[in-house]
Amino acid sequence: MALERTLSIIKPDATRRDLTGRINARFEESGLRVIAQRRLRLTREQAEVFYAVHKERSFFGDLCGFMCSGPVVVQVLEGEDAIKANREIMGATNPANADDGTIRKEFGESVEANSVHGSDSPETAAWEIAYFFCTMDIVG
Ligand code: ADP
Ligand code: MG
Repeated sequence: MALERTLSIIKPDATRRDLTGRINARFEESGLRVIAQRRLRLTREQAEVFYAVHKERSFFGDLCGFMCSGPVVVQVLEGEDAIKANREIMGATNPANADDGTIRKEFGESVEANSVHGSDSPETAAWEIAYFFCTMDIVG
């Protein structure tokens, strides 16, 4: 086990329903500390670059449209094994398949509007954190 950092995004379906506080409570109750956080509205281009790994997927256009359809809250979470821990707290991509007690099970509206993003590896976490935050923004 090691202290890690991961990039989290509270997606537009969740900010629209004012779920930021409830989602952050899940993180904090689970041992993930919010060490950087900013609310912003992604441009289409910013969403396309962030999700470039999915650009060949059929859902790419809709996903980018959804991600810039309203405010998001980007954040850095820190904790033991934070990348894997956050994926577990989030639950499966499709809320219909997510375990009880996960964020996506409780709050997700659809496979697209699934309330949260979380990095999936140390390499993507480092890239995704640097995409949104500079060193001085992150107070561990
Ligand atoms: P995760 O967010 O669990 O890592 P992916 O990286 O596979 O999932 O997909 C990125 C995002 O794209 C998902 O969180 C979801 O918003 C959207 N997405 C994934 N699969 C689909 C799909 N089949 N239809 C519509 N949107 C999807
Ligand atoms: Mg992913």
